[in-house]
Amino acid sequence: MKAINCPKGHGPMEQKNIKQKKTFKGVDIEFMADVFVCPECGLEAGTIESAGEVQRAIADAYRKKVELLTGQEIKNLRKAKELTQQQLADIMNVGIASIKRWETGMIQSKSMDHALRMQLQCTIHADNYTGNREISLARIKLVAKTFEKILSKRLLKSGDKLLFLAKYLWYADMLAFRQFGKGLTGASYAAITYGPQLNNYKDLVKPIKESDINAAEPLSDEELKTIHQVANKFLTEEEVYDAAHRERIWKDAEIGALIPYSCAHEMTEI
Ligand SMILES: [Zn+2]
Repeated sequence: MKAINCPKGHGPMEQKNIKQKKTFKGVDIEFMADVFVCPECGLEAGTIESAGEVQRAIADAYRKKVELLTGQEIKNLRKAKELTQQQLADIMNVGIASIKRWETGMIQSKSMDHALRMQLQCTIHADNYTGNREISLARIKLVAKTFEKILSKRLLKSGDKLLFLAKYLWYADMLAFRQFGKGLTGASYAAITYGPQLNNYKDLVKPIKESDINAAEPLSDEELKTIHQVANKFLTEEEVYDAAHRERIWKDAEIGALIPYSCAHEMTEI
């Protein structure tokens, strides 16, 4: 800021970082800002609110007050997870411009805040989206066939969108992760309008159907128990479909965003 003189004729004013009070979006906030103060009479020359720094301070004070993540918090959490802005944008299915704006001064909506927290505050884990193992199509098929056997119904159908099977798989993978710290299939799940779904399912249906279950790592007794637990809890396709739609970890995710395995402990239906 360029030095200015006291309008009362006391000469140059001093730049000071002082606490400011303001009502912003109907909320009383306090924030720190640089202002000019006359050392002689104490007169304050108002802050230049168009200055980016002040805007940021106001936005962050507001976000803190209404319990939204501040720009700095978003940035710190993102860095703690070793994600670039582009990577966070990709997993949240938003543009990188949104991430940049939230980290500087733009105030995110409550639902976006939930989505950000879900991605950033769940346990930091390198394999957060694959359940701590590599994806195995043969294992996906093996788990699917196991569900079919227990439930006595076909779930892996030709030309199918895996609408119901994906939810059984999701619950089994997430529950296994919660129980053993490792999923069953290594699949990533995205939040779509119709609930949690295998990420890129359109490209996966055919290769899954064509894979050889004998090539899959056999299911351990413990893993089999987990699959039974899911099947016994959701006996019909409607039940598993409806339950998945009640899960906050799906509801809070943006459409197209990946659902971290570390959110498994927040599932409420199983
Ligand atoms: Zn003065």
